[in-house]
Amino acid sequence: MVVTALRTAARWALDFALPPRCAGCGTIVGEVHSFCPDCWRQIEFLGDSGCSTCGLPLQGTEATSCAACLARPPRIARTRAAVVYDELSRGLAMRLKYGRKVAIARTMARYMAPLVARGDNPVLVPVPLHRTRLWQRGFNQSALVAREISRRLGIAADPFLIRRTKRTPPLKGMSPLQRRKAVAGAFNVPDRSAVEGRTIILVDDVLTTGSTAEACARTLKRAGAARIELVSWARVVRPTHLMR
Ligand SMILES: [Zn+2]
Ligand SMILES: [Zn+2]
Repeated sequence: MVVTALRTAARWALDFALPPRCAGCGTIVGEVHSFCPDCWRQIEFLGDSGCSTCGLPLQGTEATSCAACLARPPRIARTRAAVVYDELSRGLAMRLKYGRKVAIARTMARYMAPLVARGDNPVLVPVPLHRTRLWQRGFNQSALVAREISRRLGIAADPFLIRRTKRTPPLKGMSPLQRRKAVAGAFNVPDRSAVEGRTIILVDDVLTTGSTAEACARTLKRAGAARIELVSWARVVRPTHLMR
């Protein structure tokens, strides 16, 4: 425990002592938690545009919500991602996941925080890892990001509000239906009173099909949550999303 604490402290000290570097390529930049001009040009920011519910690009005929959300309102009332998932944003997510770079979590939080709706006394909840995964890795990358967003906005973050009780296989390569089945019943809420009537903002690093977040949302709704939102760093936007 002491060694881990010291190591964390040393890493923090290092983060502050070194000149700020571009989170994309490592070039020295003038401002902390920013990108160099080259990476900046490459990043596709999603921001607050698109469908007011799912955040995906709208078609010309759609006003504020897309046809799919109008026809079948999703459990997650508002989904936002900072950037499109590509080589660069994936690189950041990987370095956060396997390197515990607090500086990377801060950079992500900088671009995710403006997308968080702050009404209704919300609580930020990172998508949980199973405890064996947590032991292997030593930390939950989404919890690091949630903590940094919490710091920026002054709203609560609680990584223990929902637990992952079932180990799920890697979802990569699975169809949406297979993914939904794989994550069904994977989560539970240990203390319903912490959830009842609250607005919960799920925090994730990468949003692919959304089946994991959707399973979290289902569990939280069942436990009495009033509203579920989701903010992620990067989101897979397929060509079909752009020409539905
Ligand atoms: Zn760069
Ligand atoms: Zn939509």
